[in-house]
Amino acid sequence: MIRKSFSFTICGFLLAAAVFFRPAPAAAETRPYLHFCGANGTIFGSTTLLNTGKSNVLLDCGLFQEEGYPEREVARRNRFLPFSAREIDYVLVSHAHGDHIGRIPLLVRHGFTGKIYCTKTTAELSAIMLRLMQWIMSQDNSTFYSDGQVERAIANIVPCEYHRTYTLPDGLKFRFLESGHILGSAMTYLEFPAGDREYSLLYTGDIGNPNNPLLRPQETVEEVDILISESTYGNRLHNDPQEDLRAFREIINETVTKGGKVIIPSYVLDRTQNILYTLNKLIREGAFDRSFNVYVDSEYANRLTGVYRKNSRLFNDDIQAEIRAGKRPLSFPALKQFPPRGKINGPAVILAPSGMATVGAVREHLTNHLSDPASTVIFVGFQADGSLGKEILDRKSLVRIDKKMVPVRASSHYLSSFSGHADYRQIGAWLNQAKRVGHIFIIHGQPDASEGLAEYIQAETPFKATVPKFLQKIYLDTILPEEKATEAGRELPRETARAAAIR
Ligand SMILES: [Zn+2]
Repeated sequence: MIRKSFSFTICGFLLAAAVFFRPAPAAAETRPYLHFCGANGTIFGSTTLLNTGKSNVLLDCGLFQEEGYPEREVARRNRFLPFSAREIDYVLVSHAHGDHIGRIPLLVRHGFTGKIYCTKTTAELSAIMLRLMQWIMSQDNSTFYSDGQVERAIANIVPCEYHRTYTLPDGLKFRFLESGHILGSAMTYLEFPAGDREYSLLYTGDIGNPNNPLLRPQETVEEVDILISESTYGNRLHNDPQEDLRAFREIINETVTKGGKVIIPSYVLDRTQNILYTLNKLIREGAFDRSFNVYVDSEYANRLTGVYRKNSRLFNDDIQAEIRAGKRPLSFPALKQFPPRGKINGPAVILAPSGMATVGAVREHLTNHLSDPASTVIFVGFQADGSLGKEILDRKSLVRIDKKMVPVRASSHYLSSFSGHADYRQIGAWLNQAKRVGHIFIIHGQPDASEGLAEYIQAETPFKATVPKFLQKIYLDTILPEEKATEAGRELPRETARAAAIR
């Protein structure tokens, strides 16, 4: 479908590309800069270019998957690289979610031959995720790179250790710190000479929710010149995790007692494993009045759960203690990999992708069970406008799933504390552990979320934050014009009015 619409617009697009999107001659520049090439005004397409004057470093290169955009616009955004891929020296990857790695094969297609650095576990998960994304896109012919380019990207990944400092030939040093978002996820700390000074930069990738039951909490950095932070929940707070856990248990108990199905639309990577651990723990504690099976209807989700089991050394101290006591966090007798084809007898909990029910196996389960008043849908992640998940949550009486109109009689709930991201108060608390942050750039958020977080930071931390626009280029010597910019943020006036309004 995309291919067809693309052919209609190819001339116009090429003309526009020639006029507006001419790749910047990055290598010729010597004045170092940051170029914001994705996840600006949106949570998708994370791509930030750092030009140190000596080399071009990409921080992530992710897919744009925004709901509610015309397919043609999504395709255009995904295919558009506002720089020459040949001139990118290397890519530093924060974690294996598609919106952070999904366009790396496109770089390869356009001539990128450099290495891709990430943690060992991210390397393992990225190989699965890149192949999964290619498979999903091939289902509707929307793919924009070849299987060979996917494999070349995977072959160029260099697995790295957490906390070890790596030095590249241009003098840039980097190391990966725990970000607590998904298994293997990292914040990237860079130090590099640029112009006549040394810079330090921390790229957060996605900042984890400190209430994640499996993962270690995110680490802190005492001092950094430039910080690039995500803002997915920049203007929202999560529910109380204890309240959500109680609701989760009660909703499931009520549903299985009635013999209904609990359907949990869930992202394959981390959310699924998080929910499985929670179910396992509740079953172990005898929290339910009736036994039931738990199905994960996704081959890829099951494979990713295997990677989690294999890398349990990365789990937090509480889980390590459970493992030492002989417990298996992600394995339990009620867990069956795939639901039987056709009718599922008796009560069951079914986890299936995708998280917003826009694609994937969960649509079939919703088609089968949404009209059953005994069944329940539990959403464990944000539901964007235009998604099937949002329609169900908004209590539409009838929804379209593929070619079928399905009446909505099942109940539905949204439990936000299962989110993989920190909310704005958690980000503020994390930032306040730092002594000096020269300047913060806010990316990876809807416009209101990014602005909200910038204002919250100005009000509640000693640091200065701004929200760069998509394709904005910012020269490093304009960010910290003074010699050291020491205490720069601490002297800034604080604005409290808007921040108070969003709290
Ligand atoms: Zn992520």
